Amino acid sequence: KPAAPKNFIRAIVEDDLATNKWEGRVHTRFPPEPNGYLHIGHAKSICLNFGLARDYDGKCNLRFDDTNPLKEEVEYVDSIQEDVRWLGFTWDNRFFASDYFERIFECAVKLIEMGKAYVDSLSAEEIRQYRGTLKEPGRNSPFRERGVEENLDLFRRMRAGEFPDGAHVLRAKIDMASPNIVMRDPTLYRIRHAAHHRTGTNWCIYPMYDFTHCLSDSFEGITHSICTLEFENNRELYDWVLDTLGLYHPRQYEFARLNMTHVALSKRKLIKLVESGVVDGWDDPRMPTISGFRRRGYTPESIRDFCERIGVARSANVVDYALLEHCLREDLNARAPRVMGVLRPLKLTIVNYPEDQVEEFEFPYHPEDESQGSRKLPFCRDLWIERTDFMEDAPKKWFRLAPGKEVRLRYAYYVRCVEVVKDASGEVVEVRCEYDPATKGGWSDDGRKVKGTLHWLSARHAAPAEFRLYDHLFPAEGPSDEAEGDGLNLDSLEIVRGYVEPGLAQAEPGWRCQFERTGYFCADTRHSKPGAPVFNRTTGLRDSFAR
Ligand code: ATP
Ligand code: MG
Ligand code: MG
Repeated sequence: KPAAPKNFIRAIVEDDLATNKWEGRVHTRFPPEPNGYLHIGHAKSICLNFGLARDYDGKCNLRFDDTNPLKEEVEYVDSIQEDVRWLGFTWDNRFFASDYFERIFECAVKLIEMGKAYVDSLSAEEIRQYRGTLKEPGRNSPFRERGVEENLDLFRRMRAGEFPDGAHVLRAKIDMASPNIVMRDPTLYRIRHAAHHRTGTNWCIYPMYDFTHCLSDSFEGITHSICTLEFENNRELYDWVLDTLGLYHPRQYEFARLNMTHVALSKRKLIKLVESGVVDGWDDPRMPTISGFRRRGYTPESIRDFCERIGVARSANVVDYALLEHCLREDLNARAPRVMGVLRPLKLTIVNYPEDQVEEFEFPYHPEDESQGSRKLPFCRDLWIERTDFMEDAPKKWFRLAPGKEVRLRYAYYVRCVEVVKDASGEVVEVRCEYDPATKGGWSDDGRKVKGTLHWLSARHAAPAEFRLYDHLFPAEGPSDEAEGDGLNLDSLEIVRGYVEPGLAQAEPGWRCQFERTGYFCADTRHSKPGAPVFNRTTGLRDSFAR
């Protein structure tokens, strides 16, 4: 017995396959507008559309919905392709809605000839006023009854560039009293004297989304056209266009878009952050973009896992950001090599360790995965430990280092703090310890209680490194689409300078690891250089996701 489908869209697809509705075909598309970088909400749509094609032996197109020349750019096209590939998906076809401009124009001409479309010469503001409201029906435009010949002539002259922007639009002739406002003679074409990133200045009229989308789906033989709930009312128009023109007719289905705590998922808002310079580009590690998560150190596997777990439904909800972090930790916990880094260094000197001696200790890369192997780290009298691992006036339950206390230096020795050195301002600048040579390897069987285990680095061998620690850019817990400008956390990036084990000076940009006891990190792909590594903290070790 096959497993129950994972969501209502899959149930529909399985039903259609069972009844042979589309002759056994499943053909979806992911249709971004290239007017910004993709965000984690788009990842949900990508996993859904490409996932259906993958699981039902179907196809999925990548289609750029590029009908607004003012906002679209090649940079965005390139980034979208990169992000889809990085997520692990391959499109069967790549199309641009702009490839269909001639065919879409012909469809418009056909509608005019059928008496189903007309050129309206009202201003945009007048059209809005005539449209009416939910409570009040709209009014017919005085240009609504123009004859077919006049409409054809005007429409062709619109295309020929005879009129300025806004002088005319082409509208479908449907019903100005429809309870669905989308159906009140929607605009199909507008004049825009603007160069397009693909068609240049070939066109000065551009089709609207509602007209373009259904036609593109139809031309490509899409079976299930999946979009977010805001388009529910547009489905009637989608169906009207294809029925009126008698074209192949895919079915549109709507699902709830992803909303998440602590992020804004709207290109309009994200573009403002980029343009205002609040962030270091679209791929700033605090951005909820796919490229931002990638640069932050997220894995494609963890994002796909997240998209699986949030599911696909028709009811809107808000997903806890902590779930995404949880998925990441699960993935990295299993895979990321464990290495040593000291973020906020404090000098530790072992006063009874021979001045010139250097030993090496073996560190496995992963506690549960021997195949990752191990490496040796040097140990000497001068070490770095984490400043936060020492406290002068420590409370009772403090298991880390404090005056008189003994701790384990991981895989090396037990050390006891015998002296604290301070600078003129009273800040602790060095802790002096004695080590017990009998505890070599970091272990003793004499029954001593040593609870704390610290990570450390040889100060003579460690490589300097920069660490970038991130907090939420959007502090709001709620659907932070609402967190506008002033709600931003401008202290969301803290840069600290510390040290890493010698081999990591050459860390490859993009390389991920766990710094033991500290968190998951990734060498920054923009700022990390061989010899001068920069690590982004992807996430801390503690999981705050409540099951
Ligand atoms: P934005 O509001 O961020 O500009 P958009 O919907 O205008 O998003 P498109 O480029 O048109 O952006 O989106 C491409 C596809 O991704 C569409 O099918 C859209 O429904 C889907 N999508 C966009 N945002 C989300 C989201 N938050 N959750 C799920 N799917 C989304
Ligand atoms: Mg859109
Ligand atoms: Mg948009």
